[in-house]
Amino acid sequence: MARRFCRLRLLITGFSITLLACNAISAAGASRTPQSNSPSITVVIDAGHGGFDRGGIPGQRIPEKEMTLDVAQRLKALLAASGYRVVMTRDSDVFVPLPGRVAIANSYDNAIFVCIHFNSAKRMGAGGIETYFFSRESLPLASAIHYYVAGGAPSSNRGVRRRGFYVLRQTRVPAVLVECGFLTNPTEGQYVQTTAYRQKLAEEIAAGVRGRNSVGSALSPTRVATSESIPLQPYIDQTKVTKSEHRRSKHSHKKSARKKKSSSKPTGSEASAASANPEGN
Ligand SMILES: [Zn+2]
Repeated sequence: MARRFCRLRLLITGFSITLLACNAISAAGASRTPQSNSPSITVVIDAGHGGFDRGGIPGQRIPEKEMTLDVAQRLKALLAASGYRVVMTRDSDVFVPLPGRVAIANSYDNAIFVCIHFNSAKRMGAGGIETYFFSRESLPLASAIHYYVAGGAPSSNRGVRRRGFYVLRQTRVPAVLVECGFLTNPTEGQYVQTTAYRQKLAEEIAAGVRGRNSVGSALSPTRVATSESIPLQPYIDQTKVTKSEHRRSKHSHKKSARKKKSSSKPTGSEASAASANPEGN
């Protein structure tokens, strides 16, 4: 009887050790969760503007196209190091038309599309980070990227916004456009011109990409919140903004979003405006 009891104790001890080991393994696995699904995902990184399209507003001192490309290349290196397959819509100072950018994203079944831009305004005081999405399935990605970029930047939080920019509307994969601050804002412009800050922006976007599946939805209150879960960011729906409201918009490259969605072929002026304004149509 005593021997049997000892054997039982040994069995229980052994079982506990196995359990402990399992817990340790699952904990280690959990910490790698954001990267565990990375090999099957292609991240298509879209550096805004390029070539003759400098980005921003007329007379702007800091060229947006250079800042977007630099952050995009830093993001590419970070995501590649995490095991993601990364594709760039442009990897040099060239102009890629909007349909070309969208076609690259749509040529991958299991992809996510990340457009990098910077804002501009005539009013120097305008500043902050904003992130755009259009399709419902893009919201977790927008939420995660915005959570990290807005949280890591010294700029104000302008929120997650839903708007039908061409590159967001025409992509069949989760697509997000992040405006990483205002180049016309003296403070933000100064930050962006340092490599350390551009690296920081890339790191925050990469964290958002890795954490895109950890976004907690306010619609599922029973979900167990963990320290790794990212709260779903509230967003402003700007898909039905009136013309007068649009007129107040501060971005020259956003004004193109006013164009009628019904016209499949833009007129000459629209085509040039669209080419100069990648995130609009
Ligand atoms: Zn832009």
